[in-house]
Amino acid sequence: MPGRLQNRATLITGAGSGIGLETSILFASEGANVLLVDINVQAAEKAATLIKGRYPNVKIVATKTDVGKEEDVKAAIDLAVKEFGRLDVVFNNAGIMHPADDNALNTPENIWDLTMQINLKGVWWGCKYAILAMRENKADEAKGLHIGGVVINTASFVASMGAATPQLAYTASKGAVLAMTRELGMVHAREGIRFNSLSPGPLKTPLLMDFLNTPEKRERRMVHLPMGRFGEAVEIAKAALFLASDDSSYMTGSDFRVDGGISSCYVTPL
Ligand code: NAD
Repeated sequence: MPGRLQNRATLITGAGSGIGLETSILFASEGANVLLVDINVQAAEKAATLIKGRYPNVKIVATKTDVGKEEDVKAAIDLAVKEFGRLDVVFNNAGIMHPADDNALNTPENIWDLTMQINLKGVWWGCKYAILAMRENKADEAKGLHIGGVVINTASFVASMGAATPQLAYTASKGAVLAMTRELGMVHAREGIRFNSLSPGPLKTPLLMDFLNTPEKRERRMVHLPMGRFGEAVEIAKAALFLASDDSSYMTGSDFRVDGGISSCYVTPL
C-alpha cells in the first residue's frame, strides 16, 4: 500500500519539537520526503537522524531557519525544491509564547513585535514562498503528484476564544493567522493551492508546559478541559496528515479545530 503522502515533498517548521516533530515522523511514515526546519538546528538534526533510522526509503533533511527572517524562509523553501525537485506541502507550524506576554498594560512592545515577527510574519512568508514554489509543480499522476499544493498554518484555539489568563500578543497573532489563512484559501483556490489552519487545544508540549510552570497554573486550565487532560502533539500530527493528504481535497480556507472539545464547552463534566 502506498502511503498517504507517497513521493510528496514536504516542509515543516518547528520540526525539532512538539507538533512539528510528531508531524515530521508521521509524514515520513506515509512516504513523504521531509525538510525539517527549526531555529534550534540541534533539535532538527536529532529528529532527522531518528526519522532516517526508522524510514530509510524517504529523504530527510534538516536546516537551521529563523522563520522570523524573510531571507531564511525563502532559503528554506529553495532548499526543499533543490533537495526534492518540487514542494507539495508546507506546514507553517513554528511559533512562540513568550513568558513576558501578558495583558494590554503589561506586555512590552518588543515582546509584542517579536511574537508577531515569528507567529504571524513567519507564517506569511512561509505562505508567500510556498505559493511561488507550488506554482511550478507539474502533475505526475503515476506518482500521485498534482499541480498546486497544500499549506497548513498552525493557529490555536485562542484564535477563537478569550482567556482571562492573558497572552495578548500570542492570541492576536493566532487570530491573524486564522484570518490570513482563510483569505489565502480563496485567492489561490483556482490554482489548486489549498490553505487551511489547524487550531490545537492546550497540549502537553514544551511550549505550553514551560509557560504553565507551576501546578497552580496548570490546574487553572485543567478545570476548563472537557476531557480532563491536555492533548498530545501526535493527536495534532494526525490532523495535519489529514489536511496535507488528498483525504481533505475539498477543504480550503477552513479552520480545523482539534481541541479536546474546549471551544464547544460551557460547563465541563464533573
Ligand atoms: P514546541 O515549543 O514544542 O515546538 C516549537 C518549535 O518551534 C521548537 O522546536 C522551536 O525551536 C521552534 N521555533 C521557535 N521559534 C522559531 C523560529 N523563529 N524559527 C524556527 N523555528 C522556531 O511547541 P508546540 O506546542 O509544538 O507548538 C507548535 C505550534 O503549535 C506553535 O505555533 C504554537 O503556537 C501552536 N500551538 C500550541 C499549543 C500548545 O498547547 N502547545 C496550542 C495551540 C497552538
